[in-house]
Amino acid sequence: MNVDLSGHTAVITGGTSGIGLATAKLFLEAGANVAICGRDQDRLDNATATLTANQSDDQLFAAPCDVLDKNSVANFAEKTIDHFGSVDTLINNAGQARVSKYEDTSDEAWREELDLKFFSVLRPSKAFQPYLEKSDNAAIVCTSSLIARQPEPHVVATSAARAGQLSLIHSMARELAPKDIRVNSILIGVVESAQWQRRYDALPDNRPAYDDWLKEQAVAKGIPLERFGKPEEAARALFFLGTPLSSYTTGSTIDLSGGLSRHVG
Ligand code: NDP
Repeated sequence: MNVDLSGHTAVITGGTSGIGLATAKLFLEAGANVAICGRDQDRLDNATATLTANQSDDQLFAAPCDVLDKNSVANFAEKTIDHFGSVDTLINNAGQARVSKYEDTSDEAWREELDLKFFSVLRPSKAFQPYLEKSDNAAIVCTSSLIARQPEPHVVATSAARAGQLSLIHSMARELAPKDIRVNSILIGVVESAQWQRRYDALPDNRPAYDDWLKEQAVAKGIPLERFGKPEEAARALFFLGTPLSSYTTGSTIDLSGGLSRHVG
């Protein structure tokens, strides 16, 4: 099935690497206009070079923005509208996990983590809502995690914050439905990312090949499909939920955990 998104604009926070970058690529390939942001200018430049390698740069707008900074997000929203005139899809993807257990997580770390998980959704959603309300195909999609439903002790604060964030996303879905804005999320288990490459690079020289090592990690984590997900696999789910392909779906989640999810319902 070919999906033609000419005239559609997608905003992707954290679009400079991993899942966000793969999602930007998919929307561009479907003919959409795409706005991406991240905090680091070098990463923005690299992402721009990657995304425009095989096509004109007219469809892409890349700008620095910290999703936790209200003014920065307002500025990004304004510039995106100046550039493309409208917004149809917002992908709230920016973020990272915090590795810490209950015993060693400081009050400050708890606040930072709760701030990140709540305001990375709230700030962009509020800033882009007036424009989404004008779209006939408005969708907000959030990149979330399986740990929202299945907490892991080694990421205690991220697990708790993701659970609260998922509650917020479901509330937004109810409240924004009368405005014809759908709100959904994807729940990721583990997706290959720069973080795993860094952990591999830090291993001694006699380490196994990267792909073998990744498979070992997946098996050790008990992932039934015995591998990590790929950014492109998460991107396809975000694309589905962010486009009219899922026009009757709101307040829902797609699981991308390779079978790691154990909860029922
Ligand atoms: P990456 O580190 O590859 O990408 C994260 C992106 O978010 C980068 O573009 C980064 O750019 C940006 N970012 C981080 N903080 C901010 C901020 N405050 N403001 C704006 N941009 C920000 O990670 P992934 O692609 O793996 O992760 C994407 C999302 O998926 C994250 O929210 C992550 O927590 C979530 N996730 C990932 C899992 C995985 O296994 N990979 C598992 C579960 C959830 P910059 O640093 O330059 O700002």
